Amino acid sequence: MSPRKSKSSIDLIIPVFNEAGVVDRTHVALREVIDLLPHKFTIYYVDDGSKDETAKTLRALGKQDKRIVVLELARNFGHQAALTAGLDASKGDFVITIDADGQHPPALIAQMIELFEQGYDIVQAQRLDDRNYSFKQATSFMFYRLINSISGTHVEPGAADFRGMSRQAVDAVKAMPEFHRFLRGMISWIGFKSVILPYHETARLAGQSKYSLGKMIRLAMDAIFSFSLVPLYIGLSAGGIFFCLAALEMIYVLSFWFKGDTSTLAPGWSSLMFVILIASGMLMVVLGFIGIYVGYIFQEVKRRPVYLLKNGEK
Ligand code: UDP
Ligand code: MG
Repeated sequence: MSPRKSKSSIDLIIPVFNEAGVVDRTHVALREVIDLLPHKFTIYYVDDGSKDETAKTLRALGKQDKRIVVLELARNFGHQAALTAGLDASKGDFVITIDADGQHPPALIAQMIELFEQGYDIVQAQRLDDRNYSFKQATSFMFYRLINSISGTHVEPGAADFRGMSRQAVDAVKAMPEFHRFLRGMISWIGFKSVILPYHETARLAGQSKYSLGKMIRLAMDAIFSFSLVPLYIGLSAGGIFFCLAALEMIYVLSFWFKGDTSTLAPGWSSLMFVILIASGMLMVVLGFIGIYVGYIFQEVKRRPVYLLKNGEK
């Protein structure tokens, strides 16, 4: 691994959605870290269609600090799309994505830059699970277990969208134009020299999580259906099991015929119904999975932009 020059230009990408209550403080916390570093920083705040005063606050911040670039999306496209908008706009040698709510400690930025200068391409922050188990942590734990068991791409449990990426890694991700984006998986998929940086999550500076249950489910679906074909095989395996059961039953019934004892064969309505119900239920589940994949393919072939800026640019 060859070390890099120590005066690299660094970009920070910060997606913000209805965070008027925190952005000022976030910026102060960031400045406390980056003002002590010798690098040239550009800070991209991506306003993901906020309905509150976020955009106004960001523009005011931009007037005070010339390192700030404000990108405004035309509507709320979601966290992954906002991050993508930032990655597309970034030009720096090393690009760090970090949440706006203070849960990702800015102090780690200095360590990330140090690791980048040692030669790493991807510095992935990993949230250490603290004792206080919340709904979010429990669902996140189950999600990582599931995705790692059904997908060929390993996603580090607790990996947050808090990471640094070299220019080459950013360009590799930019070459993936897919619409359904699960950046943690995509970044793991590209490979590159990576290192994990563990951290303890701090409390949100103010306000509530902007990841509603619906948004969490959508992200999990994007991850599962774009990184795994296993759900499609569920139907195949279940079909195989049913085929074997049918063969066994045929042998069983034929044995009565061979013995010449067909009178004991009851009409068997209940067992027949059972098999029909299970088999048709399974068919519907599998058709559902196929339907989801067809839907995903449909959205991919439309080649719609992942986000739109307020001025209509992509
Ligand atoms: N965010 C966004 N668009 C959204 C939802 C969230 O840009 O649709 C931003 C949000 O402002 C924050 C980051 O993404 O900076 C992570 O969101 P949040 O902290 O609400 O998620 P959590 O930490 O609860 O998972
Ligand atoms: Mg948060």
